[in-house]
Amino acid sequence: MATRTTQALQSAGVTRVLAPDDPGYASETSGFDLGIACSPDIVVAARAPADVAAAVAVASERGERLTILGSGHGLRHELHGGVAISMRALADVEVDTGKRSARIGAGAT
Ligand SMILES: Cc1cc2nc3c(=O)[nH]c(=O)nc-3n(C[C@H](O)[C@H](O)[C@H](O)COP(=O)(O)OP(=O)(O)OC[C@H]3O[C@@H](n4cnc5c(N)ncnc54)[C@H](O)[C@@H]3O)c2cc1C
Repeated sequence: MATRTTQALQSAGVTRVLAPDDPGYASETSGFDLGIACSPDIVVAARAPADVAAAVAVASERGERLTILGSGHGLRHELHGGVAISMRALADVEVDTGKRSARIGAGAT
């Protein structure tokens, strides 16, 4: 099932689709508390909002359990299997003082 989901994600244009043996998987799933296991079948290392949208659509179509990963400071439960979207790279913060507004990336903490 994971292989077909990986293929579906890649067909949907997601470039960083990681399995447990792939370089980068460990750093995307690591958290502050090393006693809490985090081992999804697939990690989408989102690099743009389009990656998130595509991953949500594919996971939904395929009935995959979906989890969001931030920087891993607040994970309280072990995670095994399913698809996780890592937001770590989407951590930009833009402040527009003129408009008194800010845009904060989904992976910023
Ligand atoms: C040493 C330490 C000190 C802390 N100090 C403070 C503090 O002073 N104040 C404070 O408020 N908190 C504090 N925290 C808690 C921690 O910073 C928060 O829980 C933080 O919000 C976790 O963010 P994260 O990106 O690490 O999320 P994760 O640990 O990756 O995820 C936490 C939960 O949020 C969900 N999630 C993460 N990102 C998203 C997203 N973009 N969209 C939807 N769901 C998402 C995850 O699925 C998960 O359920 C502290 C934690 C630690 C370990």
